[in-house]
Amino acid sequence: MFAAPGMAVDLFRPLASIPAMSPEVIEKLHRAIRDVPDFPKAGIVFKDITPVLCDGTLFRQAIDLFLERCRTQEVDKIVCIDARGFLFGSAVAYQLGIGLIPIRKKGKLPYKTERAAYTLEYGEAEMEMHIDSVNAGQRIVLIDDLLATGGTSASASSLIKKVGGVLVEAQFLIELEFLHGRQKLEGTPVISFLRY
Ligand code: AMP
Repeated sequence: MFAAPGMAVDLFRPLASIPAMSPEVIEKLHRAIRDVPDFPKAGIVFKDITPVLCDGTLFRQAIDLFLERCRTQEVDKIVCIDARGFLFGSAVAYQLGIGLIPIRKKGKLPYKTERAAYTLEYGEAEMEMHIDSVNAGQRIVLIDDLLATGGTSASASSLIKKVGGVLVEAQFLIELEFLHGRQKLEGTPVISFLRY
C-alpha cells in the first residue's frame, strides 16, 4: 500500500486544465518560493523552491512550464544540472519520452567524462558529463532550477558542445535578472518563467 487509510490521493483525478504559463499560476509559484537570507553564506538570498516541490499542484505546474515550452520545438534529449535541475528535468524527459543526461559535480559520474570549471554566486566548482551521452548533432534542451550569474549554465553549455550536442535552448524556473547571467549564454535562447 502507498497511502495510509484516510490519506489516499485520487491518482486518477483529471489534471489541471489551466495553461501552464497563465498569470495565475506564475503568481502562485512566485508566492510559494521562499527567500532565505544569508544562505549558504552571508549576503546571498537563497531562493528556496522546496515549498513548490512539496505542494503537488505547484510542483506539477512548475514542471508543466518546462514541458509546454519543450513541446514547441524538436528536442532529442534533456540535459539537467546537479542537483535541483534533476527535479524538473527528469519529469520533463519522462513526459516527453526522451533521454535524460545528468551533469554532475566532479567525481560523481562513473564513466569517462568531459569536465568544466565554473564559478557560482557563492563559490567555485567543477562539473562533469559522460562523453558518450549525446550523439553528434542531437538537439538538447538544458534545464536548471535557477539562473544566477550564469557560470553554471555556461559551463554546462560548453560540455554539451564538447560532447557533440546542439544546445537549442536553456530553460530555468527562476532567473535573477539583476545578475545578468543570460549574457554568459550568448547565442543560446534563454527562457525563464519567474523573474526577480
Ligand atoms: P550561477 O552559476 O551563478 O548561475 O548559479 C546557478 C546555480 O546555482 C543553480 O544551479 C542554482 O541552483 C544555484 N544558485 C545560485 N544562486 C542561487 C540562489 N540565490 N538561490 C538558489 N539557488 C542558487
